[in-house]
Amino acid sequence: MWDIGGDINKHKTGDGQKMKRLILSLREKKIPPGAIWVGAGVTILLLILLGVRLYSNKVVVTAANKEEININTETKHEDNVNNSLPKQPEEVKKDEPKEIKPEEKKEQKANPQTNTNEEKSAYLTFDDGPNGKLTPQVLEVLKQYNVKATFFVTGKAIENNKDILLREKQEGHAIGNHTYCHDYKYLYSSTSAFLQDLAKNDALIRSVVGDYNNKLIRFPGGSFDKNKSAMRQAVTEAGYHYVDWNCLNGDAETASAVPVEKLVEKVKQTSQGKNRLVILMHDAGGKETTVQALPQIIEYLKAQGYNFKTLE
Ligand code: ZN
Repeated sequence: MWDIGGDINKHKTGDGQKMKRLILSLREKKIPPGAIWVGAGVTILLLILLGVRLYSNKVVVTAANKEEININTETKHEDNVNNSLPKQPEEVKKDEPKEIKPEEKKEQKANPQTNTNEEKSAYLTFDDGPNGKLTPQVLEVLKQYNVKATFFVTGKAIENNKDILLREKQEGHAIGNHTYCHDYKYLYSSTSAFLQDLAKNDALIRSVVGDYNNKLIRFPGGSFDKNKSAMRQAVTEAGYHYVDWNCLNGDAETASAVPVEKLVEKVKQTSQGKNRLVILMHDAGGKETTVQALPQIIEYLKAQGYNFKTLE
């Protein structure tokens, strides 16, 4: 204001004089006190509005963060269902929403280390034995590689090979019950027939090896079929634990002997992407190539990082 007054004095023109008079009149005029109060009131109102606006923005941001956090919780849950990730520590407190940076989210979702670090287990299983000729050969290969396996034995095969069944037990392998007669037609005719046959085989195994895990069984042909649901329920109620397979060498797919390369290839194919393998093979008569393929199969699985275990 004072500067403007100084500048005005410099003007010598008629317009300058008019301006000077105008400014002087403005200087003399007193601003009414009411106007000051109105101005102050408007300013306070504007400040309040600005404050409300800032606050509401903050609330929106907080809500968005909460939504992100929920998404991440769901991801964690899925991962836990897949059993591929350990429980992650609670990073987010409810009353203190934390902004999750994109890099962190990426880490939480991918976390690939846990998957690859998960232990890989292979359960070699041999069905339909013991066989007088082939089972001792299988036992020799297993001994050579210091690998333990599980033998699902049938009563009819045991009758003439009790010494081999005992050797299986003595050499640290697991024994499972694969029924006495292995006759699908008879076994699956009724649940009572199936249970009686399992009990008959159990008594025979026990008479040879003494104490063993007699709850471990395998259905001849597997438990998969829809029409075996009554059987599955009956054996479970009787306290048995039945085990199928998720990998195989395919030695039962043709009546004639399957070439060694095909047996090895089948294991490679059916083991892909699995950390836990239950591998179906047979040590019954006519399965010579199964014995011949066994060293390659064991070496392949060892190279893939599998530890050999027995079903108990
Ligand atoms: Zn069988």
